[in-house]
Amino acid sequence: MTGGWRLIYEGADADAEPLREALTTLGNGRFATRGAPEWSTDDGVHYPGTYVAGGYDRLTSEVGGRDVVNEDLVNFPNWLPLTFQPEGAEELGDPASEIVDARRELDLRSGVLHSSFTVRDPAGRETRVSSRRFVHMADSSLCGIEMELVPLNWSGEIRIRSGLDGAVTNDGVPRYRELRGDHITVAGTGSEPGGIVFLHARTKQSDLGVAMAARTRVRPGEDDASAAPEVVPGEARIDAVHRLRATEGCPIRAEKIVCLRTTRDPALGDLVEDAVLGARRAPSFDDLLAAHAAAWGALWDRYDVEIDVAPETDLSPHPIQLILRLHTFHMLQTASPHSVELDASVPARGLHGEAYRGHIFWDEMYIYPFYLHRDPDLARALLLYRYRRLPEAQAAAVAEGRAGAMFPWQSGSSGREETQIIHLNPRSEKWDPDRSHLQRHVGAAIAVNVWSYVDVTDDRAFLARYGAEILAEIARFWASMAVERDDGRFEIAGVMGPDEFHEAHPGAPAGGLRNNAYTNVMAAWCLDRARAALDRLDAAERRTLFTRIGLSDEELARWREIGSHMMIPVLSNGLIEQFEGYGRLEELDWDAYRAKYGKIGRLDRILKAEGLSPDRYKLSKQADLCMLFYLFDREEIAGLLARAGYELTEAKLRKTVEYYRERTSHGSTLSHLVFAAILDRVDREASWGHFIEALRSDVEDVQGGTTPEGIHTAVMAGTVRHVIERFAGFRSSSTSLSLAPHLPEGIRRLRFSVRWHDVPVTIEVDSERVRLDVPSDAPRGVPVLVGSEERSLATGSRVEIAYNT
Ligand code: BGC
Repeated sequence: MTGGWRLIYEGADADAEPLREALTTLGNGRFATRGAPEWSTDDGVHYPGTYVAGGYDRLTSEVGGRDVVNEDLVNFPNWLPLTFQPEGAEELGDPASEIVDARRELDLRSGVLHSSFTVRDPAGRETRVSSRRFVHMADSSLCGIEMELVPLNWSGEIRIRSGLDGAVTNDGVPRYRELRGDHITVAGTGSEPGGIVFLHARTKQSDLGVAMAARTRVRPGEDDASAAPEVVPGEARIDAVHRLRATEGCPIRAEKIVCLRTTRDPALGDLVEDAVLGARRAPSFDDLLAAHAAAWGALWDRYDVEIDVAPETDLSPHPIQLILRLHTFHMLQTASPHSVELDASVPARGLHGEAYRGHIFWDEMYIYPFYLHRDPDLARALLLYRYRRLPEAQAAAVAEGRAGAMFPWQSGSSGREETQIIHLNPRSEKWDPDRSHLQRHVGAAIAVNVWSYVDVTDDRAFLARYGAEILAEIARFWASMAVERDDGRFEIAGVMGPDEFHEAHPGAPAGGLRNNAYTNVMAAWCLDRARAALDRLDAAERRTLFTRIGLSDEELARWREIGSHMMIPVLSNGLIEQFEGYGRLEELDWDAYRAKYGKIGRLDRILKAEGLSPDRYKLSKQADLCMLFYLFDREEIAGLLARAGYELTEAKLRKTVEYYRERTSHGSTLSHLVFAAILDRVDREASWGHFIEALRSDVEDVQGGTTPEGIHTAVMAGTVRHVIERFAGFRSSSTSLSLAPHLPEGIRRLRFSVRWHDVPVTIEVDSERVRLDVPSDAPRGVPVLVGSEERSLATGSRVEIAYNT
């Protein structure tokens, strides 16, 4: 189980390059840079993007005569440029030169991107180039490149150029190109002794400052005065140019260390000065690399999931082990221990590209447990991103005539609604109205995360200061949305479910649906959990919160009333209806659409381009109602539904899953995660198929073009969770840790670690046994439940427990 650490790309492939650049992104949770070559620019093939966590800016664009405001995760200046030019020849990167024997290798274990190739210029001069790159995981302001050049068949003068390029825009997503992307202005460039150049840029609207300072050293020749760099200021860029003599067969080594500081950093004095100091004080590339690899080592100790897959079950060319590590790696580059100090969350598409403009969605619900069970401090920090945006969510609720907190479907800097009002359909090339902001269920996703954090960690201080308030304000919102009907049931109208294909009832003038079952049940759950959270406070904490946010026992009684009388729409066959009226919609001829279009994930775009409205049909983009079976176990969901007067038997549950599965196009990668999980104990083969599809979705870009614009963080986190939570059956609560293994055929062994109340527990599962290790210096023992066997593990114990599937 030692392989599976290297993502390797042999040869150059212009078509695959955007995907490769996304998947070889390096980052440390504070910022990330796509894996574009050092010599490249935004040229239609390459796209060197650098994104800072929480680094947004808002611009107004004119589209079809109307103003459209968009907030983007900004593409900041490019710190990568490092090229060379033999005298009288083209510079590396010039299309006249040929690149051969290219190889790129992402070493996941130490977080290093290796690249090598031979460049042959038109005069036949060949130079072997190899580079290593990191974005530092220990000192989160640093990143670096080391490039080694070996002239293979020539000697002569050579010019090595190391720069910082501020002439960049947000240009990574073709669909957005009609919208403005000119977010940054270069405020200044300059140089300092020691071969340091710097660049200071600011965003236009948010006035976020970013300074980068680059220290480049070239060997041989560093101590030679003649080799001191010439500083070449350019338009919105600056370069340090080193000139030296190259000798055939003798390596030249250039190392570039960059310090990136932003006005969002804590302990900041002067932005530019601090960046320059950071670059000057930074140790050598080799020393930095050692510290970086050690930081990654510590992360892997916590997060690695080892999986032993039978060869006949494994995937090719990317084995399952490698994909799981790749997913873990990118999650840790998007949010890492550094994020604990930040006011940011996990964008749906990582810090890896510009799709969805770096916004935060309900995807957090899929992502969150990935961190929760390994680094609860980080999980807590992600919840604070939402807590700080509670006032904005409250203002949004008031603006809609509601109470409590209405969190936005897409969230960015301030927590206001960032969902665009129109969206380009690449099939029809028309701008369609975008109503996805009606997905009010995002509030329920936040509540799920708050509740699970408190439930797993028992962090009472968090609950009293933040958690109970978030839950109460979300509950208030649902209570204000619920309207009592004549039969005493409460209904919720004007919303969209996770299935984004249905935006309105057919022919209705206004957007939104009545009684989306998922939303209604989640609203009832939120009302219930908010009361439970308030009950966990002690008397003084409860009094303080009640006074501060004006809660009363009557209001809580009302929540109970609404939660236990929620309307659940039912189809004529007795199954739950996705939303009221779904049963009356037309059936779609799925086979005909499959035959005509092949891939029909995005049936919405297909139908709209045909002039048809998806609202007319029984179809879903992704799991909607079935989400309930993903989030809750059968007893819990049956209990919730029973309170709303609906009896969920095992047979009905299966039929419901089947009914909606047949009508789901899986146009979102999230859908595969959900169906993989809910079919796990019902239809192993189908479950496995969805799991594999989810695993392949980014590494193979199965949607055909989405991953180059950014990874799918929910699917990455979700696949790793699937292994832990479904294959090993891991669950955790404040009172115990439990395992109910259910390894698929072909999965021979798993090994991973979790943190349970500050205790690192290592868990190994094979087809018969579970092995658990609790270190001798752990602060406490761990109560464990394996199948139906309860054990209390003392510190320093290692136990083996046989289980029956
Ligand atoms: C999905 C949403 C998701 C969003 C961001 C969409 O395609 O339908 O559920 O939140 O992508 O990942």
